[in-house]
Amino acid sequence: MTDKTVGRFAPTPSGRMHLGNLFCALTSWLSARSRGGSYILRIEDLDPLRCFREYSELMEEDLKWLGLDWDEGGLADIGPSKPYSQCDRSDIYEQILETLRQKGLLYLCFCSRSELHAANAPHLSDGSPIYGGKCRNLTEAEIKEKLKKRGGATRLIVPDEDVTFTDMCYGEQTQNLVTHCGDFILRRSDGVFAYQLAVVVDDALMGVTEVVRGRDLLDSSFRQIYLHRLLGFEPPQFGHHPLILADDGRRLSKRDKDTDVGFLRTRFTPEQLLGQLGFAAGQIDRPEPITAKELLSCFSWDKMPRNDIKIDAAKFFD
Ligand SMILES: [Zn+2]
Repeated sequence: MTDKTVGRFAPTPSGRMHLGNLFCALTSWLSARSRGGSYILRIEDLDPLRCFREYSELMEEDLKWLGLDWDEGGLADIGPSKPYSQCDRSDIYEQILETLRQKGLLYLCFCSRSELHAANAPHLSDGSPIYGGKCRNLTEAEIKEKLKKRGGATRLIVPDEDVTFTDMCYGEQTQNLVTHCGDFILRRSDGVFAYQLAVVVDDALMGVTEVVRGRDLLDSSFRQIYLHRLLGFEPPQFGHHPLILADDGRRLSKRDKDTDVGFLRTRFTPEQLLGQLGFAAGQIDRPEPITAKELLSCFSWDKMPRNDIKIDAAKFFD
């Protein structure tokens, strides 16, 4: 074992990247590279109905345009842990799932979306439902009967205990899995492996030592750390960065054309865009043009703002 940093960027090719995706790529690259670490580009194309190869191609081109490079993965699928596209890793996920199944930690859940989101079901403040374990004790006969009508989602039983970790940006974080999410899904009822399973298996098997991503995914970290440990893996370090929001506080979406990288590339040089992003991330004092390599020597998690970053489109895109 070496203690070398291995970072990664793991985008979903469901559309052209937007400014927020670029910010995530940049932050994860800076965090790994500034410590002399290696960097993986993994393609999170689990959902065949939402993901398209043309977006993966554009994504690679956009990252290269910005001056970001990677040692493993990508569409060329180079490296010791290939394949690096999740759509090609189903056999690995199935094997891992089977080990959990044999330990009696999984069960099938037949609850519909509307049942899970029912008004009387407990919800977190962000609106996500907490699963109360309704299907945990179904009998063999009940399962057989239900399977005639529809496929079941595979859930993992979670223990009533706190998971704690220290985030590179937000500091110490604690969550109880039972009160915050309940037994969670590792495979959807349509057979697609869940993000939580794939991301843990991939990060572990690819030797990733740090996971850097937007703070909207911080909540997932507790489940992922639990799963890492359950599978006998050492969890990576986590660093969540603030989100880039539109000036009215809205989350950016791949449907917003004005923050789409294709559009940005017609208005900015990579150095101009990096200057804006580096400034927004508190890494440099002025939004002046800079290269990705130059940003490496300035990068520090201590300078990263904790609050989300509102981009004033009128000013930013001037
Ligand atoms: Zn259920």
